[in-house]
Amino acid sequence: MTQDYRVLLYYQYVPIENGEQFAQAHLAACKALGIKGRILVADEGINGTVSGTFEQTEAYIKMMHADPRFAETIFKIDLSEDHAFKKMHVRYRKELVSLNLEDDIDPLALTGAYLSPKEFKDAMLDDNTVVIDARNDYEFDLGHFRGAVRPDIRSFRELPQWIRDHKEEFMEKRVLTYCTGGIRCEKFSGWLVREGFKDVGQLHGGIATYGKDPEVRGDLWDGQMYVFDSRIAVPINHVEHVIVGKDWFDGTPCERYINCGNPECNRQILASEANEATYLGGCRHECRIHPRNRYIVSHHLSESEVAERLHAIHEVVA
Ligand SMILES: [Zn+2]
Repeated sequence: MTQDYRVLLYYQYVPIENGEQFAQAHLAACKALGIKGRILVADEGINGTVSGTFEQTEAYIKMMHADPRFAETIFKIDLSEDHAFKKMHVRYRKELVSLNLEDDIDPLALTGAYLSPKEFKDAMLDDNTVVIDARNDYEFDLGHFRGAVRPDIRSFRELPQWIRDHKEEFMEKRVLTYCTGGIRCEKFSGWLVREGFKDVGQLHGGIATYGKDPEVRGDLWDGQMYVFDSRIAVPINHVEHVIVGKDWFDGTPCERYINCGNPECNRQILASEANEATYLGGCRHECRIHPRNRYIVSHHLSESEVAERLHAIHEVVA
C-alpha cells in the first residue's frame, strides 16, 4: 500500500471579513489546486479538513501561510492511500462551532489553559482531575481517553446544559477537556472558565496531535478516533490497542462503523460484517424493513431472502 496522499486538519480563530465572499474565492482556489474536503468559514475563523497528493496539500499549506490571518495556522497531517473526500466544499456559517449560547465565547479573549500532550497526560493521572470528552456520543463510543466522562448528550450543543446539571461533581476539580483537533475545546474551555471553573485545561491540538506526539504516543487512549471523512476511524494509541467499541447488535468488541441502511435513519452504529448481514444493515426492525433499505438494495436481496433473514432473528414482516 502506498501512502501518496495526505489529509490535513486545521482551524484558526481569527476575524474574517466578508466571509461569504471569502468562502467563494477560497472554493475556487481549492478546486484549482485539486484538493478535496470540507471547509467551514465564519466571521470568527476557519476550520477545515482536506485531502490531496503531497504536492497539492503542500501547495494549499503554502497558500494559507501566505495569508497573514493564517500565517500561524497549524496543519495536522495524516498519510493516506487516497483522497478522504469525494468533493470540495467551502461553506459559510454564522459560527464555526455552536454551543447554543446566548452570549457566545470568543476563544481569542477567553479560553482554558493550553496543555501539551505530555502535560495533558500527566494531568490526567492526577486524582483530582476530571476529564470531559467534548465530542458527540458516537465519537466517544469508538474511542476515548481512559476514565474520561461521557456527557449523556446527542450533540455538542447540549454540552453547556449538561455541565450545569452536573456542576457540583466537577467544581472543586481540575477540569480537562479534549476533542478531535482542538477547535471545540477552545470555546468549551472558555465557557467553563466563564462559568466559574477555576482550573480548566484543554488538550492543545486535540487527540490528533496527542496520537502523533513522539513522547506520549497516544498512551491512555482506548479505541480509535472517529474522523469526519471516509476513513471514519484512525488509530491513536501506539503503545497498546484496547478496543472499547461495542457491536450494536450483540455487544461484542467492534470498531467497524456503518450507517443504518434506512436512508431516513442513517444512524451511525458499530457492527461486524456478519451482524450487518444478519440484521440487514438496519439498526431496528423498522429500519430493516424500510422499502429503500440500502443494504437490501445494494446486495440485490430478493423478498424471500429478506424474509428468511428476518425469520432467523425472529422478526416477521407485518
Ligand atoms: Zn436505523
